[in-house]
Amino acid sequence: RLFNEVQDLKGNIRVFCRIRPFIPGQAGRETILEHIGDDGELTVANPSKPGKEGHRMFKFTKVFGPDASQVDVYSDIQAFIRSVLDGYNVCIFAYGQTGSGKTYTMTGPNLATEATWGVNYRALNDLFQISETRSSTIKYEILVQMVEIYNEQIRDLLSTFLDMRTLGISTASQSSGLAVPDASMHPVRSTSDVMDLMDIGFKNRAVSATSMNERSSRSHSILTIHVRGNDLKTGSALHGNLHLVDLAGSERVDRSEVVGDRLREAQHINKSLSALGDVIFALAQKGAHIPYRNSKLTQVLQSSLGGQAKTLMFVQLNPDNVSYSESLSTLKFAERVS
Ligand code: ADP
Ligand code: MG
Repeated sequence: RLFNEVQDLKGNIRVFCRIRPFIPGQAGRETILEHIGDDGELTVANPSKPGKEGHRMFKFTKVFGPDASQVDVYSDIQAFIRSVLDGYNVCIFAYGQTGSGKTYTMTGPNLATEATWGVNYRALNDLFQISETRSSTIKYEILVQMVEIYNEQIRDLLSTFLDMRTLGISTASQSSGLAVPDASMHPVRSTSDVMDLMDIGFKNRAVSATSMNERSSRSHSILTIHVRGNDLKTGSALHGNLHLVDLAGSERVDRSEVVGDRLREAQHINKSLSALGDVIFALAQKGAHIPYRNSKLTQVLQSSLGGQAKTLMFVQLNPDNVSYSESLSTLKFAERVS
């Protein structure tokens, strides 16, 4: 194994926190960020309780502050990602309220600027590069799928037919890493192949957003990278999957204020995020029963959550003290699963 550092980490669940900087439009706001410690401590300040009394400390594997770059973030998860080339299954989630930086972390704000590329492009680039350096001993093939889960229905975002049909789940196909046998699978050989595919994915997401504004914040998107390797000497095969999941916004909606479609969306999001929390919590406790069956999200990812699989969660925070109570509920979710 080339990437021993991954094995040396204790357990298979990591929770990272990322608190984004203020962005234009937030000028003059106060931050909830009080202190980031060297060992993954984050202290936040409650704006309605000034002074030490309003401070609360949370502990993570690592905290990325507002100045952390995309490169900084990637370098801390690189070993995890590379372990896919050794046949591991890895799930990386971004959790947080809408506007907290989930998409920034996973995808980045702008494809044209390589410096701000998010985890997904960096991961693919890295996998291409390492597989190249090993090409005299192992022949690798890399394929991608991208699906969206909205209101507990699964859609293929890479279908070139703009096909809106809902896909089914089959647990029989679990070994493929994504329990959605009909989601199209696309071989990729270079970063430009990946860019082209992402473009289709983003456009397909946008198509369905015509009637509902900002649908992307209310659906989960899952980019799955399949790595298949063939050892040229021994003839043995390996298969690892990397799932990169941009979750729906975790904000709570006021039940007295929303009705109809909006309420149904909110209920589905709530249910699937708590099902995810329950699964990760049960895995962290090494529970005998892992409740995968309570949501489409956990069913689709079942074979990559638990067992030898590695799970990493980015808990995203908006620094604005106006968002304090939402941030606190995000931190409490994180506290339960860490
Ligand atoms: P979410 O996907 O959680 O709704 P976004 O990723 O869209 O949130 O981020 C909200 C806004 O904040 C976007 O304008 C994004 O470019 C910006 N942003 C998020 N994280 C960062 C960061 N680390 N550095 C700079 N800008 C960021
Ligand atoms: Mg987003």
